[in-house]
Amino acid sequence: VKERGRAHYQFYRTDMNSAITNFLAIETHLRKAIEKGELFLHYQPQIDLVTGKARSFEALLRWNSIELGPVSPGLFIPLAEDTGLIISIGNWVIENACKQIRLWNKKGYTDFRVAINISPKQLQQPNFISYLKNALEKHNVHPSSLEIEITEGSMENTNEAVPALKKLKKLGITIAVDDFGTGYSSLSYLKQFPIDVLKIDQSFVKDIIGNDKDAAIASAIIHLGKSLGVEVIAEGVETALQADFLTKEECHKAQGYFFSKPLPANEAEEKYLSLPMV
Ligand code: C2E
Ligand code: CA
Ligand code: CA
Ligand code: CA
Repeated sequence: VKERGRAHYQFYRTDMNSAITNFLAIETHLRKAIEKGELFLHYQPQIDLVTGKARSFEALLRWNSIELGPVSPGLFIPLAEDTGLIISIGNWVIENACKQIRLWNKKGYTDFRVAINISPKQLQQPNFISYLKNALEKHNVHPSSLEIEITEGSMENTNEAVPALKKLKKLGITIAVDDFGTGYSSLSYLKQFPIDVLKIDQSFVKDIIGNDKDAAIASAIIHLGKSLGVEVIAEGVETALQADFLTKEECHKAQGYFFSKPLPANEAEEKYLSLPMV
């Protein structure tokens, strides 16, 4: 028994060590990702369930590391948050989303919005708003073309977050609450914060058809949004049945693999912006 235990322990140790080594390797390479040009953005269309068209996109960060290959944001974003790298990475996202918006504007597309994800740590930076404002001015982008997605985690520190978001709103930037319903105190946040969009978390959408409770929660969020005059977007829509359900419930928009995965900018443009005039 003792022998087996020891072997097991050693196996566990080796496993742990490689996990830690991987983590360090990811951090080391992530530190250089910006200068090496390994980051890029993909754009996932948000489909208007009445017109079937996309007038907004969520920008999602992609990292194709020369050494590690493609690394999932689910892995490197939390690491970037823990190490503070999220500030420079977040700034990169702001700059590059603005550049892309400007590029599309120059091609004659003006009637669209790009949503970017903002980490709680980023929003807490004292110079976050001036950074964002400068980026918009530098790239000659109208604030109404930009939306920021924040999570309930960003709203916990109410005394600081409320004035910050009010300033952003005053600039003309749209504010969306991401993963809505997965945090807590959501309802009091809705009262205090200047919110324009609620995004129903994919965990509720996933079983919207088979599970009565998920269906009830999704419908409740849609109706809440309607009563408050807030746009509602369902995330993670993967099937026609889910899309039908959301359309019947009069959800405004839907986002998910059923419509499109996140796309490189040129493909998003081709498929959703440059629709032939009729
Ligand atoms: P999120 O903001 O909730 O983004 C939605 C995630 O769901 C994205 O994963 C997207 O690719 C994925 N998705 C889209 N449609 C479907 C679908 O139909 N089914 C399923 N199962 N998934 C779908 P992704 O791109 O891997 O990003 C993961 C998370 O990483 C994001 O979750 C967000 O929290 C974070 N993230 C991504 N880009 C950024 C960024 O630029 N800044 C920050 N701070 N966080 C980011
Ligand atoms: Ca998001
Ligand atoms: Ca989300
Ligand atoms: Ca999420």
